[in-house]
Amino acid sequence: MDMETAAEEIKKLVPKEAGLEDLDFEPEFGTVTIEAAKPGLIIGKRGETLREIRNKVIWFPIVKRTPSIPSDIVKVLRDLLYKNSDFRKDFLDRVGKHIHSGWKETEWIRLSALGGFREVGRSCILLQTPESRVLLDCGIKPGTDEFPYLNAPEVDLKKLNAIVLSHAHMDHCGMIPLLYEMGFDGPLYLTAPTRDLMVLLCMDYINLTQKEGKTPAYSTKGIKEAVKHAICLEYGEVSDITPDMRLTLLNSGHILGGSLVHIHIGDGMHNILYTGDIKFDRTALFEPASNNFQRAETILIESTYGSKEDIQPKRIEAETGLVEACKKAVERGGIALVPSFAVERSQDIMAILARAGFDKKVYIDGMIWDATAITTAYPEYLNRELQKLILQQGENPFLNPIFKRIGSQEERMKILEEKEPCVILATSGMLVGGPSVWWLKSLAENSKNMLVFVGYQGEGSLGRRIQKGWKEVPMEVNGKNIAIPVNLEIVTVTGLSGHSDYKQLYNYLSRLKQKPTKILVNHGESSKCLESARNYHASFRTETAALKNLEVIRLK
Ligand SMILES: [Zn+2]
Repeated sequence: MDMETAAEEIKKLVPKEAGLEDLDFEPEFGTVTIEAAKPGLIIGKRGETLREIRNKVIWFPIVKRTPSIPSDIVKVLRDLLYKNSDFRKDFLDRVGKHIHSGWKETEWIRLSALGGFREVGRSCILLQTPESRVLLDCGIKPGTDEFPYLNAPEVDLKKLNAIVLSHAHMDHCGMIPLLYEMGFDGPLYLTAPTRDLMVLLCMDYINLTQKEGKTPAYSTKGIKEAVKHAICLEYGEVSDITPDMRLTLLNSGHILGGSLVHIHIGDGMHNILYTGDIKFDRTALFEPASNNFQRAETILIESTYGSKEDIQPKRIEAETGLVEACKKAVERGGIALVPSFAVERSQDIMAILARAGFDKKVYIDGMIWDATAITTAYPEYLNRELQKLILQQGENPFLNPIFKRIGSQEERMKILEEKEPCVILATSGMLVGGPSVWWLKSLAENSKNMLVFVGYQGEGSLGRRIQKGWKEVPMEVNGKNIAIPVNLEIVTVTGLSGHSDYKQLYNYLSRLKQKPTKILVNHGESSKCLESARNYHASFRTETAALKNLEVIRLK
């Protein structure tokens, strides 16, 4: 059917309540993307409505959700992909031809540690067989100029078949656009929310680097190329990515769209699970990490909290602590400042406050709003409780009227002048740049106010110094350096981490369906990697190793 008539027919078939927003036809693929506020109503009972549409217009319908909070990133991305349908068709054709270029016996498998081993930051792993070369993650090490070892002799971007990205934190995704600028032109496998968040964070990285007067490692061109080469998978969807590798992404419980990377190699020869960053506990946002796979002979697991002493308080205690701190501050007429990371932690705090029935204004400042908007585009990636609330009961906690976005300096000044008790959720999480620093400067002197730390404060950050008890902070005000007395109350809430503590890491390994033959650890300080490798060896009686960067291990 021609596009115009088809559009008319679809509009007739879609129920009014579905909130149809947009129709995009892609003749290259024979598809029509239907964007709506309530995609479930377009799909219909057991896919009835969708089937009816397909049979009537003979276009293959794809349903996408309009984010409940308008998101520029989601819109720009969808437009970019739509404009590049031609390119996408040729690209997917090329990728498909390589994948099905004929299967040969896999003789060996080796794994190269290119970054993020015995350290946190610049995560990067190369997985090789005679047939395949696949890169897992490629991140930056925040606060340093240290990049993954892409100059290792076994790395050749021209011969690389694919990149798999576990999740959109800069220490995992931050260098991916650079690989495309350096000439890589293969596929990038990830979940759709990971793609969107990666764009948000990499754009922010470019902006911040430029503001500091430095040159970013790449431009927006690299980000666009990465998006054009992205192949999005859903959790549990099994996909061939090379002639002898089969990929499945599974929920990692860590951030929106965050994935465990499961790779099946050869015909039943070997299975690898790379955890990326993993949370094996239910949080306000996500289900615990999945262990729903049959086999994984090799496990590569993170060890951010890999020491036996790294035990966090119970989640429920942390959540209560946060709510009580905020209530205490507003009840005495103060403002509670919560410096927070834009992705995950902020939405976590929003969900906790909304669920607790917190009824004072919570102002959202910085990149948090964009990350929240992306979250509202993908409710099916949240935990069952939130899905039920959002999709069935129509109660989206992120749309709660207590939340208000701050868009300008005038709005900030107005909040200060009104002196209305409230909570301010602002980036950055460690008080290094971003509006949270401005807020601290404005709120520090009044002892009615409160500063609530909800995340890790890195060594050398302003947050860490205040946590350690600094009573004055040096600040630049109108071009002059002055010391601001810190009179506001300081509260630290621990236990909201998106990483598993030692007990959760251990539980995850002990609940796998099949005992692994190799446990490799990465993503932790040197001492934690070594300690957890030692402990796992003693407990599970299996080979373990804390590889160093640039070490290579043969898996089979
Ligand atoms: Zn992470």
